[in-house]
Amino acid sequence: MSQTTAVSFHPPAAAIKLPEAATWPLADVLALFELPFNDLMFKAQTVHRAHFPAGDVELATLLSIKTGGCEEDCGYCPQAARYDTGVEAKKILDIDTVIDAAKQAKANGATRFCMGAAWRSPKERDMDKVEEMVREVKALGMETCATLGMLEEGQADRLKNAGLDFYNHNLDTAPEFYNNVISTREYQDRLDTLGRVRSAGLKVCCGGIVGMGESRLQRAGLIAQLANLNPYPESVPVNHLVQVEGTPLHGLDPLDPFEFVRTIAVARITMPQARVRLSAGRRQMGEAVQAMCFLAGANSIFYGDKLLTTDNPEAEDDRALLNKLGLVTRAATLDSAPKAACGG
Ligand code: SF4
Repeated sequence: MSQTTAVSFHPPAAAIKLPEAATWPLADVLALFELPFNDLMFKAQTVHRAHFPAGDVELATLLSIKTGGCEEDCGYCPQAARYDTGVEAKKILDIDTVIDAAKQAKANGATRFCMGAAWRSPKERDMDKVEEMVREVKALGMETCATLGMLEEGQADRLKNAGLDFYNHNLDTAPEFYNNVISTREYQDRLDTLGRVRSAGLKVCCGGIVGMGESRLQRAGLIAQLANLNPYPESVPVNHLVQVEGTPLHGLDPLDPFEFVRTIAVARITMPQARVRLSAGRRQMGEAVQAMCFLAGANSIFYGDKLLTTDNPEAEDDRALLNKLGLVTRAATLDSAPKAACGG
């Protein structure tokens, strides 16, 4: 992967371990976070324009094929069965419902259709169903994406053979902060799943969540982990925590919005060819912060009035904002909502 920027080395930041072949030492990533805001924005926009048309934004459509009742304990997630959040556990959707949604998405101009399930990992009986969904969606001539939790040996290959193009699996946060948020699976489990996805020849969608009480250094640690994946992910969703009552992370002090914008900018600079996707939390951000995120190099959004189980801006509001900013959508997608899904 090409790397278009070099930053001066700053004094050691912390003992966060990175892969030996790291092209982005943590100290360099942290140094980007610490640039004066306007310098960071200028650098990010310069990198962005070297790799993408200036005003191009991708709209992603997501359907939850299995909502709620998850056995994991991700501290931010209203779909975890152990938290009392009012999210009802539902069965996996039947194939016809998924195909109808995909057809509708295509009719509205979508080129990619993402299917998400709130599972620790897919079971054998789930795999057969998901493979059929992938085959049928692919047969419609659409790009396919899935987020189903951890994959065991062979499962990524099965999905690839069924016609899957992308697999989403997030690192969530820096390794040093990870145990503050999740205890039911290890960071290494996530890296192992990403390895299986890559080995199967699938494209990777992988990002994280900020605003969970982590430090700036730990935000830099997340970005360094992502940027040092070899190769780095094709899509990088950056979520802003949406605090949901009943989850352990409800009630935290909110993150400074400039810090979120800085995270987007650093993701853009360190992963210049990735689609950096504004994901959860856009509704709470408001238009001005979103506009700064686009300036910082975000070039993809989830589109529709629901994301995971939390509110997303109305599609109409998104269109109005993109128009106001003179941004152009890469592929028009559904007016209908993406529903809840697991990003993990
Ligand atoms: S993020 Fe995914 S794995 Fe974690 S609790 Fe929610 S649905 Fe389960």
